[in-house]
Amino acid sequence: MVPPGWFAALEAGTRRHALECPCGHVRDLWEAGGVQFSGNKKQTLARCPSCRALTWHLKRRKSFSERRQGMEAQRLRGEDRVFIGSKVWWFSVLSWGSAAAVWTIPVFTPHLAHAPARYAALWLGTFVLGWLVGPWFWFTTRYHITDKHLILHSGPLRATLELARIAEVSKTRKGIGVSFATDTNCLWIAHPVFGTSGALVAPEDRTLFVAALDEACEYLHERDGELVHQDQM
Ligand SMILES: [Zn+2]
Repeated sequence: MVPPGWFAALEAGTRRHALECPCGHVRDLWEAGGVQFSGNKKQTLARCPSCRALTWHLKRRKSFSERRQGMEAQRLRGEDRVFIGSKVWWFSVLSWGSAAAVWTIPVFTPHLAHAPARYAALWLGTFVLGWLVGPWFWFTTRYHITDKHLILHSGPLRATLELARIAEVSKTRKGIGVSFATDTNCLWIAHPVFGTSGALVAPEDRTLFVAALDEACEYLHERDGELVHQDQM
């Protein structure tokens, strides 16, 4: 059992991969019933729906056009298109390091061992804090594009932006905003968020994210990897 947010992120990560039969038939790994964790083996035995044979399929990353086609198919089915957050290497180290570090707290407090209630409270606090400070953000940072909204998730934060009210998407930060990014290389989205003027996001598949927003936002147009409002063109 995984929390729903992690499940959505797992699906989005898996959908970036394809399963290919030697006959040339290519399927979405998620739709084929697979799950992609990092570092899995590259070959998998499966029955091909096209040639009907049981063959060794190649598990590989999808090309840009395959990912784009997959997203388009999801859009036509009325499903959310989900982009997982990119993670800068030190964020991963910090997340997992902090989660590991809090587990050592009870080790340094052996004098509490004879006060079971306080000791239990300390363990519980440790557990919650251990997940709050890092892995929660690491696992759940993702961006959903629906037909009318861009929904940003990161740990306990969630914001729903109206596609029609996004003024621009830029490579540079244009004011005070809320970060939904776990990478330093991020995009600025000009739209009111929690009383500020924008949000920072860092989708792993940035080119496709910008292309999907370009398509979803009637008034925005792509220019050099950014989206500008038609009034500014
Ligand atoms: Zn086949």
